[in-house]
Amino acid sequence: MKWKFSESDKEWHQTILNAFENILKMKIKPVLVYDRKHFANYLYKGATKPGGVWAECIKECGTIWLNPHLSTEPKVETVNTIYHECLHIKFPKMHENKVRKLADKMIPVASSLSSKKKIFDIVHSH
Ligand SMILES: [Zn+2]
Repeated sequence: MKWKFSESDKEWHQTILNAFENILKMKIKPVLVYDRKHFANYLYKGATKPGGVWAECIKECGTIWLNPHLSTEPKVETVNTIYHECLHIKFPKMHENKVRKLADKMIPVASSLSSKKKIFDIVHSH
């Protein structure tokens, strides 16, 4: 992998994740992982490949993977992405468009991430 998060990045990711967990009163604890081995048992349909999305999550476990490519983007985009994934975990039935709308309202990003990646994330369910 070309890009990598620094230890400092991982520290503020965790800080912001803890804040969102409290703000959203999440019953399932969100857990950040930086290794895709956590998703080894999941199949990928069609053209959606992990490298082509910003994040991936398993709703029931609260597992969130962030694409290290985010380390080259403005930090606000990572914050938006972490909040977006927390919304998927908190509201498992919420439609992707609604999740995007809510996340963009709470953490506005200058240029929409969705314009850079056609598919924002991959959300798994058991
Ligand atoms: Zn999403």
